[in-house]
Amino acid sequence: MAEVRNAILQAKRAAAKLHRSHLMRERIEAEGGRIDVFETILKAGIPLLFRPLDGLLGVFVNDPSPGVLVTTKRGLSVQRFTGAHELGHFILRHQPSLDDESVLRRSPFRSAPNYALQELQANAFATEFMLPPWLLASHFKRQGWGQEMMGDPMIVYQLSLRIGASYEATCRSLMRPGIQVIERRVMRALLEVQPKEIKKNLLGDYMPPDWRRDVWLLREKDEGSVIEGSRSDLFVLKLAEHSGSGYVWTFDELNEAGFAVVRDEREGPAGDAIGGPVTRSITARSEGPQRGRLSLAERRPWAEDGEPFSAFSVHYDLNGPEVEGLSQVERRHVLEAA
Ligand SMILES: [Zn+2]
Repeated sequence: MAEVRNAILQAKRAAAKLHRSHLMRERIEAEGGRIDVFETILKAGIPLLFRPLDGLLGVFVNDPSPGVLVTTKRGLSVQRFTGAHELGHFILRHQPSLDDESVLRRSPFRSAPNYALQELQANAFATEFMLPPWLLASHFKRQGWGQEMMGDPMIVYQLSLRIGASYEATCRSLMRPGIQVIERRVMRALLEVQPKEIKKNLLGDYMPPDWRRDVWLLREKDEGSVIEGSRSDLFVLKLAEHSGSGYVWTFDELNEAGFAVVRDEREGPAGDAIGGPVTRSITARSEGPQRGRLSLAERRPWAEDGEPFSAFSVHYDLNGPEVEGLSQVERRHVLEAA
């Protein structure tokens, strides 16, 4: 038992050391976003390739030199966790490892004598590296989320998108020692809800081409933040609109940027506040891999160059999931160096 405890402690320290040496906390607290797993692997100098692996999520080799393979057959959050697990093998100087689905099912915080200690340790590393307590705290602060709100599956799902983890991993992390935002009873209730149900609730009567894609709910609190997701993700934008005073949001920028607006509605106002702000609710679909900055303005339509009442902007990187070959971040480095 002491051996397991020490191994987990060592893994957590190694993860925290990486956060510090890459100033990850400072960056994320300023800009939002998540831990960049594949960029960290690139900076560590480990060759990383994505391949359609059969029956495996990832591979770590160290002879004659270190290298990592990650499957292309799973979504981005699984690719990220697998990458973090393989990075753990490298950082902790482990033996080569072929990692199958059981990687995701192992709990690093339960004693499990059947599993090789290095697998337990690589998972403890991956969890601490991808989901450190300060990362959750930073998103709670930005969004104004309190502990009591973490019983709501929709909010936990939105948290999972912003930290780049699966819904299930996020639910489990909220109960982790050192975080303990929810009780086991709440976690069980959250895990009974399927992400598909949450997506249905967010989309209402809009029927997406499939239910694998994620659905982001973006509000004023997301202003200025970084949205990192996948190429076919959906976005529900809900912004206060002062149409009673003649100001409306225009969404031409969305179409120009490669998003298709699939629904446009106005909700409210709450109560009898005639002339008060309503909520403009827009649903948009990303039409392919893309990266950029989206800026929207609430203006009086007849005063094109007049001062906007308010503005909303986010940076987005919708290149997930990773496809066969080099990681997206490495492709960018190669192009920039050319
Ligand atoms: Zn492993």
